Amino acid sequence: MGTFEVISKHGEHEEVVFCHDPSVGLKAIIAIHNTSLGPALGGTRMWNYQSEDDALVDVLRLSKGMTYKAAAAGLNLGGGKAVIIGDSKTQKTEGLFRAFGQFVNSLNGKYITAEDVGTSVNDMEYIFMETPFVTGIPKDFGGSGDPSPYTAHGVLMGLKAAAKWQLGTDDIRGMRVAVQGLGNVGTNLVKYLIEQGAQVIVSDIDTDKVKAHVDQYKVTAVAPDQILFSDCDILAPCAMGAIVNDQTIGKLKCKVIAGGANNQLAEARHGNQLRELNILYTPDYVINAGGLMNVFVELEGYSHERAFDKTRKVYDNCLKVFEIAKRDNVGTHVAADRLAEERITTIGKLKQRHQGKSSRNFTTLKEVTNR
Ligand code: NAD
Repeated sequence: MGTFEVISKHGEHEEVVFCHDPSVGLKAIIAIHNTSLGPALGGTRMWNYQSEDDALVDVLRLSKGMTYKAAAAGLNLGGGKAVIIGDSKTQKTEGLFRAFGQFVNSLNGKYITAEDVGTSVNDMEYIFMETPFVTGIPKDFGGSGDPSPYTAHGVLMGLKAAAKWQLGTDDIRGMRVAVQGLGNVGTNLVKYLIEQGAQVIVSDIDTDKVKAHVDQYKVTAVAPDQILFSDCDILAPCAMGAIVNDQTIGKLKCKVIAGGANNQLAEARHGNQLRELNILYTPDYVINAGGLMNVFVELEGYSHERAFDKTRKVYDNCLKVFEIAKRDNVGTHVAADRLAEERITTIGKLKQRHQGKSSRNFTTLKEVTNR
């Protein structure tokens, strides 16, 4: 299949940029999916792809996902993503990231990058040497730092909205919430849930993390192969993707799924099945948008309070999804896409497509987003 055919197959992307600098071993692709709502923001993934085609398909898929995530979050951002082909453990150099930063800069703010799988705050610092169009830089440079507490707070908001919709109240005191994964997001979520008075059940493959949580919060721990099937009101997946699949779906006992993990449904049909089972699924990219909201605030001039406050919007965003699902008689995974598409159509029409700005004519990134 030709390159343009591959691009057409994976969505109507506006621009795909191939970045090549043999002097530093850079092979990267930046995909800008849609800028109807604002500049395309999305992280740079560094991954040892089997082939360049695999890298292209991944960046096309991920950038489209960012368009939907930003739109459903109510942010004035479009969707984009970048991939650097290479081993993040052995092939990272200053030259590689600075060369990549120059390519980002050449897009004049139409694409804004951030951290992703395989890249870190240090790498963003190198990119920042070449372009202002980067978020997730260290706090001393005006960056927003670790997004996980904001992601987790957004998850709490979405979880409460789902409880209100499905269980009749968003007062989660005494509700049994099973949290899979005690990493950056899970740990923060457990803290918030305990503050809200929920009865928390936890699990992680790392027994030290489990012990630390049991000691600190007196939560109940279960084995990793049991957490999904816990007798609980709400299941909060905060580890890996595809946890709702043919093997697990018939054994779920929860009434609500509301967690931070990406790509929770193995396939879209599992979303329909959850609906038939009367288990309310809170779509992953809507409930876990708190981290994206946090970096968006970085573009305006960062404030922790404003970022934290913005994550409260996840509550209303999730309710909108549930309402669309009811209105259209579809699964919530379909309703989330409709929420995003409806906003892109109505608001996108009001705005001209983002054209970027000359790097000489602005002083802050705020001017790039406030068109
Ligand atoms: P993390 O790597 O810090 O934590 C993941 C945790 O899950 C680890 O403690 C790991 O040991 C545990 N785990 C792995 N397999 C498990 C299993 N089978 N059973 C139980 N525990 C298991 O990652 P994170 O940053 O907390 O992110 C968690 C999820 O949320 C990921 O899917 C990520 O893509 C998504 N997410 C994170 C953010 C963020 O701000 N960090 C934002 C959006 C989405």
